[in-house]
Amino acid sequence: PTVLALFSMHSKVAIITGGGRGIGLEIALAYAEAGARVYCLDLPEKPSEEWGVCKAWVNDLSGEGGKRNGALEYTQCDVTQQRATWDIVARIAEKEGRLDVCVACAGILRGSDVLEWDGDDWEKLMKVNVSGVLFTAQAAGRQMAARGIKGSIILIASMSGRITNPDMHWAAYNTSKSAVLQLSRSIACELGPKGIRCNTISPGYVYTAMTKAFLDNEPNLMNKWCAQNALGRLANPDEMRGIALFLGSDASTFCTGSDLVVDGGQTAW
Ligand code: NAD
Repeated sequence: PTVLALFSMHSKVAIITGGGRGIGLEIALAYAEAGARVYCLDLPEKPSEEWGVCKAWVNDLSGEGGKRNGALEYTQCDVTQQRATWDIVARIAEKEGRLDVCVACAGILRGSDVLEWDGDDWEKLMKVNVSGVLFTAQAAGRQMAARGIKGSIILIASMSGRITNPDMHWAAYNTSKSAVLQLSRSIACELGPKGIRCNTISPGYVYTAMTKAFLDNEPNLMNKWCAQNALGRLANPDEMRGIALFLGSDASTFCTGSDLVVDGGQTAW
């Protein structure tokens, strides 16, 4: 195949948790645009208005006369529920007859001084950011393995898995993202013999609802964060599309157990 054909998602089926908004939705749109049938899994019963607008765009793109066969679907799923997550992913794989790519993007961020962390709040964060990522990867890996598909599992970690964000009291989040890096390597090594790959993407600061919650609370925070990376700005969520397409497509067939850092150079300092 030509090098650009390697990046095609034509005839692939992809699942994205946390695909209702933010980084997950951007990755879903990129996959659909590249030809995949994409299932966005997220907490709300009904997708947001933003999601609906995106689906209309994908339909337009892949409709009659369109060169691609991409599609976007929404399914409610709480990734902290292990059996339910397995079942939802199994139903999608059965309906489509395959599952090629799974992106575990669902995550939450809470702050607290390290000496004050309440045990229940700590566990709630770990349940989504670590257990939920495991349950998602299991759900997808089981379907890929059962069908003999050499699929790609992508876990969204963070630069916070490698460094602590200056001045931010995010011990639980940082710990959870470090866990995701090790989980990914463990999955890569265990499932490698089946041809299933697992990699992480570690974004730096991205302007989404997750970071906006903090930026809205502290007027000078945007300037502080921008000064912390080499490019002097935050990423837009659509800047995660290229790296996700690389890892989800046949452009990265020898890439497993790796962590791709997309942080504007923040961890280079
Ligand atoms: P976001 O809050 O916009 O999106 C996260 C999505 O996950 C939401 O739609 C939310 O409903 C969903 N979600 C939360 N709990 C869930 C659950 N139990 N089951 C299913 N879905 C659930 O945030 P985002 O910035 O798009 O973050 C996406 C991922 O990227 C997260 O894992 C986050 O930690 C990671 N990340 C974000 C940044 C950043 O600066 N925004 C940086 C590094 C990593």
